[in-house]
Amino acid sequence: MKFKSLLAFGLLSAGLSTALQAEEFTTQQLEQVKQVREAASHSNLSWQLLESLTTEVGPRLPGTDNDKKAVAWAQKQLEQLGFDKVWLEEATFPEWRRYHESAKILLPSEQPLHLTALGNSVSTPKDGLSGEVVLFETLDELIAAPDNSLKGKIAFINYRMNRDIDGNGYGPAVRARNSGAVEAAKKGAIAYMMRSVSTSHHRFAHTGGSHYKAGVTKIPSTAVANPDADQLARLINSGHAVKVALNIQTEDLGEGTSYNVIGEFTGTEFPEQYVLIGGHLDSWDLGTGALDDGAGVALTMAAAKHIADVKRPKRSVRVVLFAAEELGLWGAKAYFKKHQAELDRIVAASESDFGADVVYAFESNVNAASLPVVREIAKQLAPLGVTYIGKNSAHGGPDLIPLKNTTSAPIFALHQDGTDYFDYHHTADDTLDKVDPAKLKQNTAAYAVFALMAADAKTKMAGK
Ligand SMILES: [Zn+2]
Repeated sequence: MKFKSLLAFGLLSAGLSTALQAEEFTTQQLEQVKQVREAASHSNLSWQLLESLTTEVGPRLPGTDNDKKAVAWAQKQLEQLGFDKVWLEEATFPEWRRYHESAKILLPSEQPLHLTALGNSVSTPKDGLSGEVVLFETLDELIAAPDNSLKGKIAFINYRMNRDIDGNGYGPAVRARNSGAVEAAKKGAIAYMMRSVSTSHHRFAHTGGSHYKAGVTKIPSTAVANPDADQLARLINSGHAVKVALNIQTEDLGEGTSYNVIGEFTGTEFPEQYVLIGGHLDSWDLGTGALDDGAGVALTMAAAKHIADVKRPKRSVRVVLFAAEELGLWGAKAYFKKHQAELDRIVAASESDFGADVVYAFESNVNAASLPVVREIAKQLAPLGVTYIGKNSAHGGPDLIPLKNTTSAPIFALHQDGTDYFDYHHTADDTLDKVDPAKLKQNTAAYAVFALMAADAKTKMAGK
């Protein structure tokens, strides 16, 4: 091809792709997007929902009376918001309760130790236990310790997570939470402590899921607040023999039952196809689960309502409030198993489960044919201060992991600024006052724009 015809071909294909993109949404549809964005940006609805959930229900540990109240709350709210369909789907999980936790440093000088049991932890004996503390800087250091070297002792991993906008410090730190107690028990330890998976300098201990392994003795599994981890490390590193006493009382209640709560606004042209947005309804027991994940619940419910106030899009918008996420994604596993034969009906999925700070970036994980829609959505998110990340390799929230593992689903991330998230995550300090109403509105508007456009595009989006 000569230069001139190459140029002509280039101009022609550029013109064609512009025409194709323009066809994804009519001028009227784009006007409706703007209307929804404006309404959501100025509405208090997501705040009202979050305030109600965290105040009238409070903590929502799976299987508790509060968890049941949260399910009833969500069902009632979805009905009152006028969702076309509202229903529950059962999920089972290993039920666990925390009753008591206390600890102190005995030697070299008696002082309180701020600590919490990790989820699933067994109890100490009724009167507690005590032992010398052995410090490891990382989980790998503990794994490398000689067999039987911790007989009668308490293992302590001092690993500190780093602070960053995307929470990349969480994954490396959480390894010690998932399997620290197992590795400590293998070496003969009688209990396990870790520095909280936390960026905070406050004296709150951070709980979170932990796991045992068949054939390995179950020992109490705990996390200490960052300042207390500093104190332990200073004492041990300066050569003191440090003795700690702890008393943890918990209960394993066997298999429990809870419910995914689902609401849907039905699409007008392809009602069986749907956009999935949501969060998880359960929370840890220490705080009131405002950031994790009351915000995700409230803002996705409100986003769907703001869309329905303007129109019913071509495809359905489904809000899924997952059960028992904190104990191991049990609601999500149940949902995607139950719906596994029809996962290709999902045209876009995004979970909000990273607090309530602003959405700063938007990213897809879709096939090439869907990218023109993605770019159109990005344009409509830009007025909210959201940048488009063109890598097309979004991960989505934790409850979308079972979806990602079974299918090539079209997954989206509305990345929230997580710089401060791990100051409060899984602590008694995760309460409503940590949520900024203006930022919650921005989140709600971003989800509303995304869900409306994904549901109303000409092209049915699909995964890679
Ligand atoms: Zn969460």
